[in-house]
Parts: sequence; structure tokens; C-alpha cells
Amino acid sequence: SNILHMQDVLNKLGLQAENKGTSTGKNFFGSGDSITSWSPVDGKTIGSVSTTTREEYEKVIATAKEAFQTWRVMPAPQRGEIVRQYGEILREYKEPLGKLVSYEMGKSYQEGLGEVQEMIDICDFAVGLSRQLYGLTIKSERPAHHMQEQWHPLGIVGIISAFNFPVAVWSWNTALAWVCGDVTIWKASEKTPLTAIACQNLFNKVAEANNLPEGISCIITGDYKVGEWMTQDKNVPLVSATGSIRMGKIVGTEVAKRLGKSILELGGNNSIIVTPDADLRMTTIGTVFGAVGTAGQRCTSTRRVIIHESIYDKVKDAIVKAYDQLSIGNPLDEKNHVGPLIDQDAVKAYQHALEKVVEEGGKLIVEGGVLEGEGYESGCYVKPAIAEAENHFEIVQHETFAPILYLMKYKTFEEAIALQNGVPQGLSSAIMTNSMREAHQFLSAAGSDCGIANVNIGTSGAEIGGAFGGEKETGGGRESGSDAWKAYMRRQTNTLNYSTDLPLAQGIKFDI
Ligand code: NAD
Repeated sequence: SNILHMQDVLNKLGLQAENKGTSTGKNFFGSGDSITSWSPVDGKTIGSVSTTTREEYEKVIATAKEAFQTWRVMPAPQRGEIVRQYGEILREYKEPLGKLVSYEMGKSYQEGLGEVQEMIDICDFAVGLSRQLYGLTIKSERPAHHMQEQWHPLGIVGIISAFNFPVAVWSWNTALAWVCGDVTIWKASEKTPLTAIACQNLFNKVAEANNLPEGISCIITGDYKVGEWMTQDKNVPLVSATGSIRMGKIVGTEVAKRLGKSILELGGNNSIIVTPDADLRMTTIGTVFGAVGTAGQRCTSTRRVIIHESIYDKVKDAIVKAYDQLSIGNPLDEKNHVGPLIDQDAVKAYQHALEKVVEEGGKLIVEGGVLEGEGYESGCYVKPAIAEAENHFEIVQHETFAPILYLMKYKTFEEAIALQNGVPQGLSSAIMTNSMREAHQFLSAAGSDCGIANVNIGTSGAEIGGAFGGEKETGGGRESGSDAWKAYMRRQTNTLNYSTDLPLAQGIKFDI
């Protein structure tokens, strides 16, 4: 019945069995080989999308460059109006788009809707921002001089996105980039090409209604090779890439080789520290949701729980008991907590991690396994697992994109912080405590080294109002709220002399 429903969803979003994967804001084209999108929910084919050829890519670049000439001089609040309309159309299509996200990626329908809501929220944020692209004025040391800084658009922003947030991450980038006066080219994950086409289709409606020039929002389709065209292209001054650390190291290097800018949003290895006076109920909810939500496929998923030895057994028992209640199955069915992994490769990585943790001396206290039989035909459904492990294990140091949780003990607070920070990644972190002292220590310069540090909420998820991103191998980029917009613009310092003299800075004399 989901499938019948899904045909409806596809119709509403303007998707067919075979789709073209390239657009500059009007029609779709594309003559490269097709990518087939199949759902991890039931293993069925949803549709196909044609990839972008090199020639078509060049055409997209030329169109985007041309559009930038117009877009960059349009008043920012007018660009904000276009973003407002995009937010409106997302409201209108929230249900079908949310459902397609759920079906193509495998997250729950609620999370699919949540992802579209996040797109709407960032559009609202960007609309307000379109009147707040503030620069400073600065007092000059010279008489009758004025100094100021201005923020100008950069040009083409290339966006490379991951499968697990197939639409929200694009909107975090585009909504800001558009109000900043940039034009965007999106290469979505080859695992979720249809949701991307649907988003571009909605943009094309807004573009048509407003008679926008082609090239403001573009989409190209393909795997890493198509992504590489952008990372190596000096026509693209900024590449914002979300995905694995492995990808980020390549993308960061390629863009740096031509001294371009990049925003890198890479893997996490997020932990919750549970202190002696932590609220047990809140700890359990935060941990379990963080570990099994989206089947452990969030960059902010909880991977490690660092528990004080005095309460270790109590916390462990509560978490294990909660795992007993989890129902695994079709994510479009609201009664299920855990949906499928994205594909068979992800299942293999999950199995490998479970073997590896035991090999390294860990102990499985909630056994994993791949589910078979009715409802699990796609072969992508796995049981969330828990292992007692040590932080230095190679597998614990590594992000496995699956519902595997590692438990470990600590004695002193300093040790807990050292364990929390003792991984290559630095995205999200949390502490459960009622001690003001511990909470502040955790947030201090000597505390968590992550881009996100939470007190009494878990590691998973974030609001769009804050800057989102992480340190160390997570890549250092920031997207979404706060002043993340500045990365999408170039800063210009102006000095304006309104005197009849030409005094030099630093009191230097130069008489002729
Ligand atoms: P992935 O690295 O396999 O792919 C991500 C994207 O990069 C895809 O579009 C892919 O085609 C592209 N790509 C890969 N190699 C490339 C190259 N050499 N040049 C250009 N493009 C290239 O990641 P995935 O499996 O889709 O996503 C899961 C990963 O993403 C996890 O590690 C997760 O933590 C991370 N992630 C991070 C954030 C964040 O904000 N920090 C958000 C979501 C996901």
C-alpha cells in the first residue's frame, strides 16, 4: 500500500520512472548514464535519474556565471523574497517531500517531515538575514577618514551532499547562499537522487513565477566524478561538502590546490558523559534516541556513552532495557523506532564493526544481527547493538554509520573529558549532569573540543539557529545559523578619505 501511495507522492513532486538529472532552473536535461534509485525500505526501484555529462556540466557553469551577474546586484531583501517563496512552496509540498525522503533514504516519516520543516525554518531564517548582512564601521586613525567593511557575494557555490540528510543540508547552504547573492550548483548523493530532483523541481516553479534568469539554482547528478569537476573548477570559489572524512580529505585538498574556499561537514564520533547525579530517565531517552534514531545514520548520532563507575550498572541496565522495547521495521509505519540502513554496503560495515569490536576485546551486551523475512526483504534492516568497549580500540575511534553503541567507564571528571575528546572527530558532545560545576567545566576551554556541546540533552540533532559543524577531522566548517552566512561572502575593507590631504597610516611621512 505504501507503493500505491508512493506513486501519488511521485506524481505530486513531478517525478517519473525515468528522470533527467540536470537543470539550471527551468527544464531538466541530461544524457549521461542513469542512476537507479531503490528504496532501502522494501528494496524496490523508485525511479532512475540521468547523470550529467562533462559537456552539460560546462553548460551549467556558463549559465550560473551569467545568472550571477544579475543576481549579485539584486537587492538582498528582494533575493530574500525569492527564498520566502521557496519556503512557502515547501510548506505546500511538505507531506509528499517528507514521504519521499523517508522512502528513498529510509528514515521515519516523522523524520522526513522534520527534515522538510528544517528546510522551511532555514528559509525563514534566511529571509530575515537578507536585511541583516551587516558589516562594521571602524574608526580611522587618520583625520577625515571613514572605514567600513562590506560583505559581497562570492559567485558560484558548489554543494556536495550526503545521503543521510538528502534535502536539509542542501537548504542550509542554498537559503543562505541565495540571500548572500551567490548562485548554487548542487550535486546530491548518488544514493538519493530523486529527492534532489524534487527540490529543484519546486525551485523551478518559483523561478518561473518570478521570471528569474536561469542559473540561480542548478542541479547536476552523478557520483564522485561529477563532484570532482566542481572541486577542481576555479569557476567555483566555494565548495560546501557534507559526507565522510575520507571524502572531505580529498575534496579539501582538491579545492585547496587551487586556493579555493571550502566548508567541510564530515563525520562525527559523538559521546554522552553520564555523571553520578545525572537524571536517569533523561539519560536513557537521550542516549537511545541518539544511538538508534535514523538507524544510527546521523552525523550527530550517539556512538559512545562514558559513564561514571559508581552508576555504570544502573545506566547500562536502563539502556539495555530500553533496547528491548525497540521495534524495527518499515519507517513509514509510525509504530517502528528503527528503519533500514541505506544499502547492503552499510550492512557489511555494520557487521564488520561488530566482529571487530569483539576481536579487539569488547563484549557485546546487546547482540546485533541482520533481520530476514517478511518486511525485511531489502536486507537493510539490522538490530541496534551495544558493546562494552575501550576508547582506544581502532573500531571505536572510527565512525561506523550504523546503530552500534559503545559503553565505557570513567573514574574522574578529567578522565571523562579526555575520553570524550580522545577521538579524531569533533562534531557533537553532551553531558548529563545536575552539577553546575561539571556543566561549566564541560563547556569551558578545557572541556569538550567539539563544535557542538550540550548539557542535559543528547548529541543528536540541532536547531537551525545555531552554527552547525565540528572540529578536527569533522572538517571545521559551519553552516546554518548564527554568522555562518559570512563563509558564503567575501569581505571587503574600505577606507574613504573625505579631507583634502593625503595622510598616510602609521604616521609615515612622504613629501614630494
Ligand atoms: P560520502 O562521503 O560517501 O559521500 C558524500 C558526497 O560526497 C556524495 O555526494 C559523494 O558523491 C561525494 N563525493 C565522494 N567522493 C568525492 C570526491 N572525491 N569528490 C567530490 N565529491 C565526492 O558520504 P555518505 O555516505 O553519503 O554520508 C555519510 C557521511 O556523511 C558520514 O560520515 C556522516 O557523518 C557525514 N555527514 C556529516 C554531516 C555534517 O554536517 N558534519 C552531515 C551529514 C552527514
